Amino acid sequence: ATPTSIMVGTGRAAELGVFFRRGEALQRLDEVRTIAFDKTGTLTKGRPTVVSTQIADGFNQADVLRMAAAVEAQSEHPIARALVETAGQTLPDVSGFTSHTSFGVSGSASGHQIFVGNTEHLQQTNIANLPDQNQISAIGEQGQTPILIGVDGQFAGMLGIADPLRPESKQAIETLHQNGISVAMLTGDRPETAQAIAAQLGIDHIRAGLRPEDKLTAIDELRQNGPVVFVGDGINDAPALAKADVAIALGTGTDIAMETADVVLVSSDLSGVINAQHLSHKTMQNIR
Ligand code: ADP
Ligand code: MG
Repeated sequence: ATPTSIMVGTGRAAELGVFFRRGEALQRLDEVRTIAFDKTGTLTKGRPTVVSTQIADGFNQADVLRMAAAVEAQSEHPIARALVETAGQTLPDVSGFTSHTSFGVSGSASGHQIFVGNTEHLQQTNIANLPDQNQISAIGEQGQTPILIGVDGQFAGMLGIADPLRPESKQAIETLHQNGISVAMLTGDRPETAQAIAAQLGIDHIRAGLRPEDKLTAIDELRQNGPVVFVGDGINDAPALAKADVAIALGTGTDIAMETADVVLVSSDLSGVINAQHLSHKTMQNIR
């Protein structure tokens, strides 16, 4: 493409709220075969809420939620915010806070040792009396993320966290399919949860339980079918964004995601992915 046609294309894109940080991305987008989306905060709103609470025998619900929320108050994960909103009132002080990326958090609150996170997180720390896998999976099958709480080495409760889909996600994926693009979802969440969400959206490929570095490997695998776009918002998406042939970040996402990306969707509207692709195609058609 000529510098002028790229300038015209990126100028039109800007009017539509699609900001090209790198002009070459406009050329590369036309060759893409697969678009891979992060789930949390990208296909979903990233505004999860606690929708169910199960407390283990011998524990007080309000106390467990307050201690878990106090530890989560130190975390920037969207799930953390859901817990803090649920617990509401003033929270106890926390010491020894640790964030275990892609697993959960830990710390002491009210003189108790608290762990909050996914099943693996509580298994790794040898929390006793964990619920059986069927109970945990049942939450996932409803498209919710199960979050477990451990108090002083004992399982104390399990929460179901639901994050609503962005309203435009389904239509954007339908349009990509009509354009012959295959769609993948990459997530750190559980397979059941990922599957339930992917089914609602008609997604072709699902990779779940991924740590940030696993998202890299997943991109490499998808690349066997041709160039890959990755769309993400989080700190944990930065490696995958750096690896993809074209990286698209949501404008409401983290700074690191936007700094790594080739394209930023200013209002985080996923229809921007379609607009970007359409302009790319028109730009490349005019010059070929
Ligand atoms: P993603 O944003 O793709 O869901 P993450 O790597 O951020 O992936 O998280 C993977 C999983 O780890 C989450 O689904 C959740 O179960 C758990 N997790 C991560 N951070 C936290 C946290 N602060 N509190 C509770 N659970 C967490
Ligand atoms: Mg995300």
